[in-house]
Amino acid sequence: MLNLVLFGPPGAGKGTQSEKLIEKYQLVHISTGDLFRAHIKNQTPLGEQVSQLIAEGNLVPDSITIAMLEEEINKNPGAKGFIFDGFPRTVAQAEALDNFLATRGEQINTVLALDVSEEELTKRIAKRAEISGRADDAADKLKKRIEEYFSKTIHVLPYYEKSGKLHKVNGIGAIDTIFTELSSIVDGVVA
Ligand code: ADP
Repeated sequence: MLNLVLFGPPGAGKGTQSEKLIEKYQLVHISTGDLFRAHIKNQTPLGEQVSQLIAEGNLVPDSITIAMLEEEINKNPGAKGFIFDGFPRTVAQAEALDNFLATRGEQINTVLALDVSEEELTKRIAKRAEISGRADDAADKLKKRIEEYFSKTIHVLPYYEKSGKLHKVNGIGAIDTIFTELSSIVDGVVA
């Protein structure tokens, strides 16, 4: 199996690059943000539980997020591999993911971290807010999301650095240039 984590702050381009990686490597895409939005749209009990937190730009508690993620992995028994997008967002989530994969004799093969300055992120999301209709793209909510990233999520980087799995990639530039760089890292892991 090929299991990738695509890591980066809100607006780093994870969604765009995951689409391309999925196609190239035939992976199952697990985006916790997309999963939560689907629950909210379908008004499931989980969706009702998390909608306020997400709209305000807060992280959803680890226990809820981890349970949802494990359920999603279990739904795809035949997968060649997974691309995790927007997960893990805390060190506790990273540990839970490693433990869960280990019970199946699997592991994270590589972590691709998109590096984008805070200034560029704010610009990109302001633009996206005009079309996304996402309540959490509004300026004050975005500020909260970026804060959550720099206070909690950033600590996931040293966690993966220690195990030698972390690859940082410049997330500013042409989409295809960034994709070429990501692919060459993945090819290095697969080879
Ligand atoms: P972004 O576009 O900012 O990268 P996502 O679409 O990945 O955001 O997620 C949107 C929101 O869903 C987050 O701000 C957070 O509230 C919630 N969320 C998504 N993934 C996680 C996670 N792994 N842990 C906690 N909350 C999460």
